Amino acid sequence: MIVAGLVLSAMLGLGCSDKQPAATTEAAPAQTDPQSAADGVTPTPMPADALRINPDRAFKYNKEVVAFGSRPVASVGHKKLEEYLIAKLKKDDVEIDKFPIASPVGNYTGRNYIAKFPGKKDGIIVVAGHYDTVFSLPKAFVGANDGGSSTALPLEIADVLRGKPNSGYSIWLVWTDAEEAFKTWTADDSLYGTRHLAAKWKEDGTAAKIKAFILVDMIGDADLDIQEELNSTPALRKIEYQAASDLGYQSHFFRAQMAVEDDHLPFAKIGVPVVDVIDLDYGYNNVFHHSVDDTLDKESPKSLQIAGDTVLEMIRLLDLQ
Ligand SMILES: [Zn+2]
Repeated sequence: MIVAGLVLSAMLGLGCSDKQPAATTEAAPAQTDPQSAADGVTPTPMPADALRINPDRAFKYNKEVVAFGSRPVASVGHKKLEEYLIAKLKKDDVEIDKFPIASPVGNYTGRNYIAKFPGKKDGIIVVAGHYDTVFSLPKAFVGANDGGSSTALPLEIADVLRGKPNSGYSIWLVWTDAEEAFKTWTADDSLYGTRHLAAKWKEDGTAAKIKAFILVDMIGDADLDIQEELNSTPALRKIEYQAASDLGYQSHFFRAQMAVEDDHLPFAKIGVPVVDVIDLDYGYNNVFHHSVDDTLDKESPKSLQIAGDTVLEMIRLLDLQ
């Protein structure tokens, strides 16, 4: 993903990565104090049996994913990871959504993986994360956080949901493919998997049933500070902050606001409520992003726990609505 625009509030110095031209980042000093969805939110009590992730298991998955090496579309690492996903989800109802990719550097085939956990309520909550890593980077890039954490956390959530009765909305976990650009990030060279899936879900009526599309991306950063992402639906941003507050994790959320181009955009464009749970402040001045320094030692199980439990609490709050 890339920063599409940036509003500086508490944080300074966060710019675009060196992979992206300066034109993708725009500071907006005239509007530095916009309203935040965090305003007026106070913690609400959670039931003792609220679902929680297992942070050590989630981190183990992150490690196993990284062990496949770099995982761009059509690579050996990508293929191994797809086999790993299938093995991990073997007890679940999994749909493989295959699609063609016409990239600036050639034609490929992509695959989104969708694991469906049925609920009693009429409607679907999607939790998604991309599993590919950047196509144009050297093999030394393993994307521990960017690609790794977003693969591992939905796998952990699958473990939490598996075999439990669900009186709420159905939960669909989606591992998206070809989120990253093949050459340089543009509207046409990015988000291949989700652009395909959004069009398909619009066509077959699924989109109308989606109550929330919750995207997780780069949520493993040991120094976790999740921005208030401005392309996200305001009501869902509010629920995100409410969920974080219920868990006592407010200090990790919304210290800064930022608009990010990411896998949620194709769904936002067709009217689905979306939210991007993302920390695009990875290392000083985002220096580890799209860098060979995006390695496991920069991550922490605790961060996966903060993000994962917040997502589970968001689902609980959405089910109450
Ligand atoms: Zn990326």
